[in-house]
Amino acid sequence: MSDTARTALLDQVDAANRNTVAALLAVADAVNARTTTGPLPTKALPLVESLALRLMEGRTTLCRDLSWAHPAPATWMPYAPGLIRCAACVRTVLARIKGTDQDFRCDGCGKYSRPLYPQAAMIPGQMLDLPEVQFTVSMPTITVTYGLCRRCR
Ligand SMILES: [Zn+2]
Ligand SMILES: [Zn+2]
Repeated sequence: MSDTARTALLDQVDAANRNTVAALLAVADAVNARTTTGPLPTKALPLVESLALRLMEGRTTLCRDLSWAHPAPATWMPYAPGLIRCAACVRTVLARIKGTDQDFRCDGCGKYSRPLYPQAAMIPGQMLDLPEVQFTVSMPTITVTYGLCRRCR
């Protein structure tokens, strides 16, 4: 990969990260939610570890609209864990939510809970470039969205 191509890819990674931060802040502002920066929230860590394991085992992959070569904002939902999804594919999953008891299962403890408090944690996108083996891949910017019960929140 040329230096120019490397710079262009890094710019795309930065853009995907900035766009995701702006979108999350806009949503948080609209619903008057608290936001934090820094390390992932403690409650998100088991979910992110689960995602990492699923990726390594090939049990989670990208939806057909995303690519390891083109950074983009993406979403992973632990209750639909097989895909990291683009915005259109997220809408398809959200349309399946019908308010059944299964839709009110806490992603922390697994217990039924009404209300369920929506949460989101962003894993910044990044580029992995190994020029000596001519290998370059970009991780999408992944927003993990999940719901917690009052006790797990
Ligand atoms: Zn998609
Ligand atoms: Zn819980």
